[in-house]
Amino acid sequence: MIPSAFEYERASSVDDALAKLAATGGTGKFIAGGHSLVPLMKFRLNEPSTLIDIARIPGLAGVREKDRALEIGAATVHHDVATSAVLQAQCPVVSDTAATIGDPQVRNRGTLGGSLAHADPAADYPAVMLAVDAEIVIQGPDGERIVSAADFFQGLFTVALSADEIITAVRFTPTRTASYAKLYQRASRFAIVGVAAALDVADGTVRSARVGLTGAGSHAVRLTAVEEALVGRAATPEAVAETAEGAGAGLEDVNDDIHASEAYRRAMIPVFTKRALVGAVARVPA
Ligand SMILES: Cc1cc2nc3c(=O)[nH]c(=O)nc-3n(C[C@H](O)[C@H](O)[C@H](O)COP(=O)(O)OP(=O)(O)OC[C@H]3O[C@@H](n4cnc5c(N)ncnc54)[C@H](O)[C@@H]3O)c2cc1C
Repeated sequence: MIPSAFEYERASSVDDALAKLAATGGTGKFIAGGHSLVPLMKFRLNEPSTLIDIARIPGLAGVREKDRALEIGAATVHHDVATSAVLQAQCPVVSDTAATIGDPQVRNRGTLGGSLAHADPAADYPAVMLAVDAEIVIQGPDGERIVSAADFFQGLFTVALSADEIITAVRFTPTRTASYAKLYQRASRFAIVGVAAALDVADGTVRSARVGLTGAGSHAVRLTAVEEALVGRAATPEAVAETAEGAGAGLEDVNDDIHASEAYRRAMIPVFTKRALVGAVARVPA
């Protein structure tokens, strides 16, 4: 279908983007890569009066090292996350995850900020943002605020972001001992089940862990029972794999759709949790 008529404006800065959005009186929307918004507009599920293009705002894209943390600008396209030498060296789970998204066209247009704001239940980034305990940096009319990934993903296409706010970046402390494993939806490569695991390991023992699950339910969640079971375990493939047994058993909200039944997703959560955990252990320095 053809979208409803709309105006198009290009923002020159974050402040300009917020001002242009405010001027639409709540009827405008930001557009970054357009790979989630434009399909919705074509179905007329979303009919913004004005699209405010934030994709070329100077400084809104890029991977930066900042006070021992890493920061990824919201307008960074998936390809640039996937191929970032800094991420590959310091936090490869993030670049690995980006490399699994869609196809080259999607990875060269779609952005990190767009993916997080849209919060598709099958999107990949939410799981890894939970695993690296990312902070989502948000700017709005009242200034900047930070929301932890744990508080950001709230429901189906619902995040802790107001309509008058913009995501400017994500920040996290890099970790090498983390891994992402996903069961692909064959056509789109969205996650039917995707699990990101990050382990803090000292003296061969897991001290703490964060495990994020996407694709299974209405929004990404932490697998806290697995995280708790991992603490004190030997950082060996066999020991961490045991904690994946029964992963997700307590989840009430598991999707059942044309791509996979609820029973199949429930069966796949432990399988992909195990793969993510074993992948993380493989990155523990010898
Ligand atoms: C064929 C296909 C396959 C795909 N496969 C996958 C996949 O395997 N895994 C996966 O995770 N995703 C997949 N996607 C989704 C893709 O990653 C999208 O690019 C992404 O979800 C949205 O990013 P965008 O920059 O295109 O956002 P847009 O479509 O431009 O915007 C999406 C929404 O976010 C808002 N928005 C955008 N940027 C910001 C910001 N900085 N602050 C606040 N609000 C903002 C917009 O107003 C809009 O509401 C696929 C998409 C397609 C079309």
